[in-house]
Amino acid sequence: MSEPTTRTPIVLVVEDEVPLRESVARHLAASGYTVVEAGSVAEGQAAAWEHQPDVILLDVLLPDGSGYELCAKLRPITAAPIIYLTALGQDRNIVQGLATGADDYIAKPFSLEVLTARIQAQLRRTSSPRKGRIDLPPLHLDYLTGEVLLEGREVHLTKMELQLLGFFATNVGVGATQPELLASVWRTKADIPTNTVRQTVSSLRRKLGLNAGSAFELEMTPDKRYVFRQVRFDPPAHLGP
Ligand code: CA
Repeated sequence: MSEPTTRTPIVLVVEDEVPLRESVARHLAASGYTVVEAGSVAEGQAAAWEHQPDVILLDVLLPDGSGYELCAKLRPITAAPIIYLTALGQDRNIVQGLATGADDYIAKPFSLEVLTARIQAQLRRTSSPRKGRIDLPPLHLDYLTGEVLLEGREVHLTKMELQLLGFFATNVGVGATQPELLASVWRTKADIPTNTVRQTVSSLRRKLGLNAGSAFELEMTPDKRYVFRQVRFDPPAHLGP
């Protein structure tokens, strides 16, 4: 028998209460997980990019923003299940949390055994080779390597363009306004020039070579939403299955 190649699942813990974060991290490490810790929205976003976690535990009240904001930023770049850890137990908050794209919600205080069981449930539900990838033939995007293939052609994107494409590819036909893109793809706290979104959309469109014959279109609707649509679904024959 050859060596098993399955790696241990990576759990990103975003929590600013250090004693709680450390006790969760210790327990998960003892349960066989690789644990990455972050204490803020900014650290969590960076760690998600760097480590491509399999599960994300997300506190709601963070020193530089909310877990909801972070969840909205992470959704375009990862399909990993997101579980909120929060002391805000009211129904309204739970609804808000799940509406941002989270998968589960655990109210503090919680038992570490329950937490582990919820993580295992999420991993069972989502275990698939699609982690970190978006496959929308003929578009393929890999967050881990930054590789983007469109109709078999490699497209070199900046990190922001990759994030923006990831957002569009996971929101096909829905699109977003400029403020929504700033909130979901860019950091909302930063003072971003208003033409940044337009310029990034424009360079993305140029690099993808979107034109009348393309499989996708990226247009601004009359109500000022950038919408990414698939207009052709048949991959060219030379690409094979
Ligand atoms: Ca907190």
